[in-house]
Amino acid sequence: MAKGVIQIEENRCMGCGFCEMFCNKGCIEMTDRVSQFGLPLPDFSNPEDCSACGMCAWMCPHVAIEVYKYVEKSSSTSN
Ligand code: SF4
Ligand code: SF4
Repeated sequence: MAKGVIQIEENRCMGCGFCEMFCNKGCIEMTDRVSQFGLPLPDFSNPEDCSACGMCAWMCPHVAIEVYKYVEKSSSTSN
């Protein structure tokens, strides 16, 4: 089950493929789609396996990825 979700800012992406290479869950795949720079774009193609580890964001040289971690909603105890 997904522990988080990522957002790829395509305007910043330079198509290096590091995000695909370093995601050990296989959540990211480079595609045939191209950016405004004519470079290949990645897709978050397998979101259900994302562990929210943050590795893709760490490895992206262009700071194009944000990682959002799901948090459990705590039950309210206030009366
Ligand atoms: S946060 Fe981790 S598991 Fe999720 S897409 Fe990025 S590298 Fe893969
Ligand atoms: S690591 Fe960053 S710049 Fe490289 S393909 Fe992925 S999103 Fe684009």
